[in-house]
Amino acid sequence: MRTTLTPAEVPMPNRIAVVGSYNHDLVFSVDHLPHPGQTVSGDMQSHHGGKGFNQAIAAARLGAATQFIGSVGNDDAGDAAMEYAQATGMQWSVERSDRPTGTASVVVDQKGENQIVVAPGANATLRPSAIVTALDKNVSVVITQMETSKAAVEAVARWAQGQAISILNPAPVTSWLDAKLWSAFDILTPNEHELTEMLARTGYRAPDMNDPASVHAACRALNVEQVIVTLGRNGALLSQPDRFALLPAVQVRAIDTTGAGDCFNGALAAGLCRNMPIADCIALANRAAALSVTRNGAATSMPRLEELNA
Ligand code: ADP
Repeated sequence: MRTTLTPAEVPMPNRIAVVGSYNHDLVFSVDHLPHPGQTVSGDMQSHHGGKGFNQAIAAARLGAATQFIGSVGNDDAGDAAMEYAQATGMQWSVERSDRPTGTASVVVDQKGENQIVVAPGANATLRPSAIVTALDKNVSVVITQMETSKAAVEAVARWAQGQAISILNPAPVTSWLDAKLWSAFDILTPNEHELTEMLARTGYRAPDMNDPASVHAACRALNVEQVIVTLGRNGALLSQPDRFALLPAVQVRAIDTTGAGDCFNGALAAGLCRNMPIADCIALANRAAALSVTRNGAATSMPRLEELNA
């Protein structure tokens, strides 16, 4: 199985478009989570984040020609996002909204328990017409998630039909995700929890996640050609109409699994955009995501091509 890539293999017109969220993440470390009405003090770190942005960073660091399509506020956080993106060399097709840049407040205690509040802000205002204008014939793979809006996700699926491979990473599973929407995509990439939630919406009972045949049978109920279920430290399962394969994870000592799924999705898109067979793309994504969980952070933990090949 060939999962080693060299930049020279990448034909530039073969571009990945990631349509999704950018969030400014504020991560507070505290002794214990505040009770209602209580103030606690702690340390704070601010990071670039958002599932869309993380996935775009992952793809770009693996040498793929990557375009990020999203919306940020007309504020300092929006400027900082653009500056960081430019350093990665990705193409930046981002609207400036009159809403503030998406912001997530993450409070983590010493036991690793967390409280998270997300204000989608500008992400929710991304216009379908802006998405379609930004996408062009050089895009061969387009990937999106659920942190924008239903109209945005629908626009991606509609645009891709017949001209690009479309991937839906159904994260997080929102109230408006239904079978009609997800079956408009070529590839779905749920994790185990997302798969279970989606199946519940079709009336199909949760599979035994330790039994690949059971997961495969459940994936077929989603009515999508290719489903890739990420299984954390157990790797990923590829389900196609008449076969399935379990591709094991790379054994590592995980330090921080935040953004593992985002790394997996960005790397998967990077492989597909080079026309690699899908099983090879998943093996590549397993390798990239394994490296990412050995480091802290999300966007910052995405591996570079040289590191992966080393
Ligand atoms: P999410 O981050 O969306 O919950 P998963 O936990 O399924 O997604 O992880 C995504 C991918 O990251 C997995 O398919 C695997 O390739 C990799 N991964 C996650 N956790 C580990 C781990 N402990 N060791 C090695 N690889 C891991």
